[in-house]
Amino acid sequence: MLGLMQDWPLLVHKILDHAALYHANREVVTRTVEGPIHHTTYGEMAPRARRVAHALERRGIKLGDRVATLAWNSYRHMETWYGITGIGAVYHTLNPRLFPDQIVYIANHANDRALFFDTTFTDLVVQIAPKLKNVEFYVALCDREHLPKADLPNLIAYEDFIADADPAFAWKDFDENTACGLCYTSGTTGNPKGVLYSHRSNVLHAMMVAQADAHGLSNKDSVLAVVPMFHANAWALAFEAPMVGAKIVFPGPKFDGASIYELLDTEKVTMTAAVPTVWLMLLQYLEENNLKLPNLNSVLIGGSACPRSMIETFEKKYGVEVIHAWGMTEMSPLGTLGTMKHDIVDLPYEQKLDYKCKQGHAPFGVEMKIVDAEDRELPRDGKAFGRLKVRGPAIAKGYMGGDGKDAFDSEGWFDTGDVATLDPRGYMTITDRAKDVIKSGGEWISSIEIENLAVGHPAVAEAAVIGVVHPKWDERPLLVVVLKEGKTASKDDLLNYLSGKIAKWWMPDDVAFVDELPHTATGKIQKSALREKFGSYRLPTAAE
Ligand code: AMP
Repeated sequence: MLGLMQDWPLLVHKILDHAALYHANREVVTRTVEGPIHHTTYGEMAPRARRVAHALERRGIKLGDRVATLAWNSYRHMETWYGITGIGAVYHTLNPRLFPDQIVYIANHANDRALFFDTTFTDLVVQIAPKLKNVEFYVALCDREHLPKADLPNLIAYEDFIADADPAFAWKDFDENTACGLCYTSGTTGNPKGVLYSHRSNVLHAMMVAQADAHGLSNKDSVLAVVPMFHANAWALAFEAPMVGAKIVFPGPKFDGASIYELLDTEKVTMTAAVPTVWLMLLQYLEENNLKLPNLNSVLIGGSACPRSMIETFEKKYGVEVIHAWGMTEMSPLGTLGTMKHDIVDLPYEQKLDYKCKQGHAPFGVEMKIVDAEDRELPRDGKAFGRLKVRGPAIAKGYMGGDGKDAFDSEGWFDTGDVATLDPRGYMTITDRAKDVIKSGGEWISSIEIENLAVGHPAVAEAAVIGVVHPKWDERPLLVVVLKEGKTASKDDLLNYLSGKIAKWWMPDDVAFVDELPHTATGKIQKSALREKFGSYRLPTAAE
């Protein structure tokens, strides 16, 4: 017997309709590429998104076609997303921080038929355009006055593109499982792989992460979406904010401390989200200028592990709650969020901090388990660590074009490639990427844990720990450090600092000082490049 409830497909553009109807005056604020801060509302945004949909349809874009964006977070980018999805086409976010050849590979692999881009990237687009096999027209996200004089086929300014399109254009109807968005994983090895979100997964994911014990976003919030829309859906914020009617603020091209602070202050931001490197810049700026964050209630930090010292600084010095989160492009992206549960919230701060350093617990809709090398499930005791597998309605079941099949098993679990522990309260801790784990004498050492401690040293700006070949132990940890400008610290200073905080056999065998660490296009430390650089490094202990 089937239930007798309505078939109301979970379609992404319904979110914007909802916002336009019930939160019409709620603001959407953008630092534009041209400089000035732009203000609009959900009420004004919805008809413009419908114009985008109409304009695309007139150009022959139809259900299932991929439309690429190469753009910062902005109101025009958000309108473009909703316009594309409103006719059943697929927004495909390209990451401008990738090498041009990788962008070409990805756009061709996805068969993108059009490209919307910010004028910041005009040179890049001109450079790659001759190699983009399927792109028929280019839309610069600007008005006619700012349209670059670029040699691109069928180039048009966004405002002209939508000018005479119908603001009351009717969204198309289709199944909620229709493809909606496409984002390629950074792929440190092999070619990038496409994750294809559906309308249903995007809507469900936004509902999951908006819950009180996840983001806890509400209509009263003003949220600064620093995390780029090209990095895993801006962690759902472009869906979640209109869903709950929160004000949304976009930083455009500027992520430096001063620019982020300005928006936090002038737009009275209550909640924000980004990777740790952005917050390092902000914290440094606050410190140098003796500033406070009176409006900000919480900051969501993920993408790579958030150091303990960063959580402490935000919470103790600025009174801003840190929500440490973990996720992946394949998970829409949020998997766990580190809000405090009922039996932790009243613990002494240091004990609470231990939990805040973990990557968090799963909202409804994310199943997790850890397994050993034989795929046997390991206990949830907070000690055993193994490969983390996940399942849920907003988690990929395959990659575009059937790539990367090995990551998915017959029971529907996706192997995250992360190594983790799960504790009895449900909190998950990432100890490493599987390929970054240091295997010393048959035991595993967590590089992440040592790195997080090392950055707590006052002279350390950034730290990475990699395994280096050792004749007796197979691998031993090498700590690679970038010192803060004007600060000094010796190998012994750093090792003394770590001493007592980690098991003796986890202590790095050596410390190497470098000017900078290599990063991926999504801001993570590129361990593979570091391992290559230190491939023939001889540890002082190697002769023992
Ligand atoms: P991406 O798909 O580019 O977002 O990368 C996902 C990967 O980033 C995960 O599989 C983790 O290895 C890493 N990651 C994300 N968030 C965290 C976190 N809070 N702590 C440690 N690693 C993280």
